[in-house]
Formats: sequence, structure tokens, C-alpha cells
Amino acid sequence: MISGEVVRTGGVLAPDGRSLNEAARQVPIGGRTQVMVCGGGPAGIAAALAAARAGADVRLIELAGCLGGVWTAGLLTKILDAENKHGIMAELLRAFSQRGSDVAKNTNGTVYDPEIAKVVLEELLVKAGVKIMLHTRVVGAVTDQSKRIVAILTESKSGRQAWLADRFVDCTGDGDLAAQAGCQFEVGTGTDCACQPMSMLALLTGVDPEAVKPYVRETGTSAKPLLRDLMEKHGIMPSYRGPTLRHLHSGVYSIMTNHEYGVSAFDAEAITEATIHARQEIHDIVNGLRKVGGIWKDLAIVATAEQIGIREGRRIKGRYEITAEDVAKGLRTDQAIARATFPIDVHALSGKGDKHIDHTFAKGGLKPYDIPFPALVAADVDNLLMAGRCISGDFIAHASYRVTGNSVPMGEAAGIGAAKSIQMKVMPHELDWKQIKPENS
Ligand SMILES: Cc1cc2nc3c(=O)[nH]c(=O)nc-3n(C[C@H](O)[C@H](O)[C@H](O)COP(=O)(O)OP(=O)(O)OC[C@H]3O[C@@H](n4cnc5c(N)ncnc54)[C@H](O)[C@@H]3O)c2cc1C
Repeated sequence: MISGEVVRTGGVLAPDGRSLNEAARQVPIGGRTQVMVCGGGPAGIAAALAAARAGADVRLIELAGCLGGVWTAGLLTKILDAENKHGIMAELLRAFSQRGSDVAKNTNGTVYDPEIAKVVLEELLVKAGVKIMLHTRVVGAVTDQSKRIVAILTESKSGRQAWLADRFVDCTGDGDLAAQAGCQFEVGTGTDCACQPMSMLALLTGVDPEAVKPYVRETGTSAKPLLRDLMEKHGIMPSYRGPTLRHLHSGVYSIMTNHEYGVSAFDAEAITEATIHARQEIHDIVNGLRKVGGIWKDLAIVATAEQIGIREGRRIKGRYEITAEDVAKGLRTDQAIARATFPIDVHALSGKGDKHIDHTFAKGGLKPYDIPFPALVAADVDNLLMAGRCISGDFIAHASYRVTGNSVPMGEAAGIGAAKSIQMKVMPHELDWKQIKPENS
């Protein structure tokens, strides 16, 4: 194509050949809803469910072919910081436990089967009347003069569509919608925005459950070092030095044993490279373990995750920012949507093992702390809330609250806030969480 030439489908290549000016086009309105939830991971499913149960008309848009985000497409299998939670988190643990294996029952649903999670989430959301759109990516937002999102744009097999709503909840993990709407955000730490590494999880089989117990996180006393030492003794050097093996059910295990360093969550080429590299590493490790023989001789991969696990994306600026000091002092607020008890868990930022943590803020140790509702309310756009790992907080605080046992109550609170703010004819930042919070929270 020559620069300046009109492209057949409607666009002009810029003279420097570095961009393409796409022709303006009419985008069909896919529909209108009261609450639009973008992203259907642990935060998004809870936001949609809570908003629907609070009486709102809700649509949820999800990129993958299933609900659950890192729980399902990411093959996570462990829910951290969940057992002190009420509401939807407690309901999900009950469902995962009752419908799961003995392992799920013995761990109160915190070790779950991703396939059970997929179907439980679909059933709950369908029953609540949430309109679910899978295989659909949120690609843009249209805002107005009064700092509100009017519509979002999606791309899918249905083409490009626009969706109108009164309230929007960004549960994309990476804060895609908030960024598209022009919100301020932070990424990673330091001037180079260094982020925690990505990891690909996998399901394995072919090992006797009794024989492997010492290597399994839930049954071995020092399972991680034991597995690492075994690997290293046989020349297998996993890029994550704390390999974590969990038994899910009847001889099916999950494993987390790799790190991909320095990958931006906003660079599709880099994510692709990391995905291919991580998948190869898992195959290499499993092949290596088979060669060890003994209990490992029939080890096999059932599946590698379709979605590589992304620990960090954007942290969107909210009406409150949770800080390292809040985590250290054990913040208490009457706007608390949940109490987080998970420690600060920064995975090494590079292969050298550096974690970039200055511990001076935590001289007296860490205490459970409250997650305030205003940290879920966007500062720059009035009808936007966030839930999950993209809420407002600093690098250190994020390394604690990001786990899924906190993402679910965040989603629940954001969903309630979205629905109630419509019913009360106020903006989310005008809500007093004390007055709208569920009785059991
Ligand atoms: C490797 C790894 C291990 C972890 N280990 C644990 C653990 O053991 N236990 C634990 O509780 N937590 C763990 N975490 C942390 C936890 O998984 C995340 O912080 C958590 O998933 C946050 O939930 P979320 O709903 O915000 O994000 P996600 O689970 O990432 O969900 C975001 C969803 O939005 C969708 N989406 C993204 N962009 C778009 C878009 N533009 N349009 C439409 N949809 C979109 C995605 O497909 C996804 O379904 C781990 C994380 C990683 C990466």
C-alpha cells in the first residue's frame, strides 16, 4: 500500500507510514442497560451478580469463552484470603465445596476445580438475570462533558458495537475501560514501572495421590522446597523457585512453576511471546520430571492455561488510594467493604530475585486492614467504579489486596454501589457505604 492511498475498507495510511487514519463509521448500538460490567473474572462475576440482585438490569462483557478470569481461563485452583468473607464469596466457597471433590470439601472450597467454577458461575449469573456476552472485548469508551461514560465500544464476531449504560464497572483486571475513558492510573513500581512477573498455570495427571503427598502444598510440610530440590537435583531449573503443586481431585493436580519477567500487560506481542515461552517451560519441566522416574514416570499435562496469569496491570486513580502505610497500620474505616488479611506478596521483578520492597513502612509488622469503598470509585469519571486488581492503591498495597478472596467482595460492593446509586439518583462517589452495605457484611 502507498501512503496516502485510500484503503478499500475505509482508511488512509499516514504519510510517515506509521499509522492509519481510519474513516469515521457508524457503530450499531448493541443495547442499553443500567449497569454494565466489563470483565468477568472473580471481581466481575460478583459485581454483575450483586447489581442484578440489587434490582438492576445488568450486562457483563467478557473476553474469554468462560466466566471466572484467572480462576478458570487461568487455571488458578486456589482462593486466598476468602474464609473471613461473607456474602457472595462465602456463597461461592459453599458451592465449590459442595459440588467439588473431597479436596474441595476439606479446604472449604478454597481449592476448587476450574471446570466446576465455570458452570457454577454461569448458573448463578443466568439465574440472577445477568445478560452475559462472552468472546467480546471492550475496546473503547465515549465520555461526555459531565465526566461520564455514555457508551462503551466492543469488538466480537458481531463486529464493532456500542453499548449504553447508566453505570459502568471496570473489572478487566488491567483497568482497560478506565484507561479508555481517560482516567489517570499507575503501573508497577519505580521509574520503569516494573511489574510482578506473569505465570502460566497447568493441570497435570499420572501421579499416585498417596505417593505424591509430601510434594503437594496442602499435605506436605515443606512441599515447595522439596519439589524444587527434586527438580534442581535432576537439572530442572524452574523460573519460579517456589513450585506449587495442588491435588484437585482423583489424580488431577495443578502446578505453578514459572515466571515471565518484564512483560507489559499492554503489549500483545510481548504477552504472546511470554505465553509461548511459559508453555514450553511447563512441557520441559514435565518431560524432565518423567525422566526422574519413580512416582513421576507417568506424569502428563492435562491442560495449560489458555490465559497466562497477569499479576499487575493498571491501578486506576480512585477517590481513595490504599497505601502501604494503610496495610502496615491496619486501616480501619466505616466505609470498609471487606477486611483484607493477606500479606504483601511481591514475586521477584526480575530473574535476579529483586522485589523492590522498602520495609520501613512495616516496622510494627502488618495488620488486617479495611478496603474502603471510595477506593472502588473512579476519581476522573463519575459513573465508573472499579473492582479487583485494578482498584486504587499503591504497588505494595496491591501486592496484598489483589488476591481473589478480596476481589470478590470488591466486585460485590461495586455492583451494589452501581445499582443503588441509580436507584437513589446519586453518583457513586456520593454514596455512604454504611447506608447501602448488605446486613451480613
Ligand atoms: C499466576 C498468578 C497466581 C495467583 N495466585 C493466586 C492464588 O493462589 N489465589 C488467589 O486468590 N489469587 C491469586 N492471584 C491473584 C489473583 O488471581 C488476581 O489478582 C485476581 O484474578 C484479580 O481478579 P480480577 O477479577 O480483578 O482479574 P482477572 O481474574 O484477571 O479477571 C479479569 C477478567 O476481565 C477480562 N478482560 C480483560 N480485559 C478485557 C477487555 N478489554 N474486555 C473484556 N474483558 C476483559 C479477562 O478475560 C478476565 O476474565 C494470582 C495471580 C496470578 C497471575
